[in-house]
Amino acid sequence: MLYYNIKTPSEVVPLERAVIDGVSEDGGLYMPQSIVRLPQAFVRNMGHMTLHEIAYAIANFAFQCDIEASVLRDIVRQTLNFDIPLHRVDDNHYVLELFHGPTMAFKDVGARFMAHLLHYYRSLHHQWPTIHVLVATSGDTGAAVANSFVGVPGVHIHVLYPHEALSYVQEAQFATLGDNVTALEVNGTFDDCKRLVSKAFVDPELNDALHMTSATSVNVARILPQTFYYFYAIAMLSRQGVDVSDVVFAVPSANLGNLTSGLMARAMGLPVKRFVSVENENNIFYNYIKTGYFIAKDSVASIAPALDAGNPTNMPRVMELLGNYSEIRRMIHAYTYNDEMIVDTIRDTDHRHGYLLDPHSAFAWQGLCDDLRPGEVGVSLATAHPAKFATTVEHATGREVPMPPQLLRYLKGTRRVTPINNGYTTFKRYLLQYAHG
Ligand SMILES: *Cc1c(COP(=O)(O)O)cnc(C)c1O
Repeated sequence: MLYYNIKTPSEVVPLERAVIDGVSEDGGLYMPQSIVRLPQAFVRNMGHMTLHEIAYAIANFAFQCDIEASVLRDIVRQTLNFDIPLHRVDDNHYVLELFHGPTMAFKDVGARFMAHLLHYYRSLHHQWPTIHVLVATSGDTGAAVANSFVGVPGVHIHVLYPHEALSYVQEAQFATLGDNVTALEVNGTFDDCKRLVSKAFVDPELNDALHMTSATSVNVARILPQTFYYFYAIAMLSRQGVDVSDVVFAVPSANLGNLTSGLMARAMGLPVKRFVSVENENNIFYNYIKTGYFIAKDSVASIAPALDAGNPTNMPRVMELLGNYSEIRRMIHAYTYNDEMIVDTIRDTDHRHGYLLDPHSAFAWQGLCDDLRPGEVGVSLATAHPAKFATTVEHATGREVPMPPQLLRYLKGTRRVTPINNGYTTFKRYLLQYAHG
C-alpha cells in the first residue's frame, strides 16, 4: 500500500517513508492511496473477538503485505497492553474509556503503535542515523510520545513545553524519564513552542544535518491504530446484544486526529450513523460546519488544555475522507461549549450517574447528550482520566479524585529540564549539537 501527499497527490511513498518523515517536504499530510474495506463477515463476527484479535485483523488488512503478520501481531500486543472498557450509562448512552494506558490519555494508543513501528523499522536498517522526534506540547502529547519512545534505540525525543504552563504531574510525566528524552522548557507560550518546531522542520540547514520527524497526529502511524477502538466499541455493543445499526460516536476535538480515525474506520466498513465533534471555545471546526469557512485563529486557554488548538491540523484528511462540504455536514454534527457549561456537565454527570468525567471527556459527553435522538445509541469517547485534571473535577463535584499509582510513580522521579529562551537561534543551536550523531 502506498501513501500520497494530500498537497501534491502525485507524490506517493511507502508506509515506512510516511512514518519516518511525518509530513512531506511541502508540509502535506499523507493518506493511504486506497482504504481497504473489511469483509462484512468480519464486522458481523467481531462480537466474538478480543481487542487484540480485532486490532490485529484490522492492522493486517490496512497494512496489506507492508509488514509481516507476526511483527504486526507483536506490535499490536505491545501497544494495547491495557484495557479499553465500555461503560454503560443507560440503554442509549455509553462511554468508551480510552485512558487506561501509561499516561492515562487516549494518545497512548497512537503514540505507542508509532513507537513500536519505528523500533521495528530501525531494526531493519541499522545504518540509519538517529531520528529526532520534535514535539511541542501543552501537556498530553509530550507525555504520550515520550513514554512511548523512551528507550527506543536510534530515536531521540525533544519535548518543548511552555514554562510554568503545565501541571506538576504533566511535566513530571516526561521530564523524569531521562535516557533518550530531553525536556526543553521554553521561556514562552505553547504557540512559541509550536513555532520553533515548525520552523525547524522546514529549515534546510537542519534538515541536512539531522533527520527530524513529527509524532503528533499529522503522522499516519498515529491515525491508523486509532481506528481499532472504534471497531472494538461496536464489537462490545454487539456482544451485549445492542443493535449497532444506528450508532453515533462523540469525540472531543482539537486537531481532529481522533475524528479522522473514526472516519477512516467508517470508510473501512464500520457501521456508524454519524459523528459528533465537540470543541471548546477554540471552535474552528464548528465554525466551518456552520459557515463553510475554515478560519484558523490564535488559541485561547481552557479547562481542557488538549482541546486548545487554533488550527486543526487534520482538516485536509477530513476533507479527503468525506469529499465535500455537504457530506461533511451530513456525517458530522459539531458543537461548542464554554468552560462554565462543562463544569456543570461534570457536576451533573457525577450527581445523576455517579460517573466522573475529565474536562475533555465532558465536552464529548455533553455533545452526545444534546445530539442523540430517541432510539439511537451513542458512544462518547473519554480521552483522559479524571485524575489528570483533578483540580477541575474536584472543584466541580466536591469529590476528592484519588491519584492512580500510574501517575503517582512519576512524582517520585527526578526532574531533568533544559531551559531555553523562545528565540529560534537558541533552539537551532541546541539541535545542531546532535548533528551527525
Ligand atoms: C489530544 C487530545 C484530544 C484531542 O484529540 P485530537 O485528535 O487532537 O482532536 C482530546 N482529549 C485529550 C485528553 C487529548 O489529549
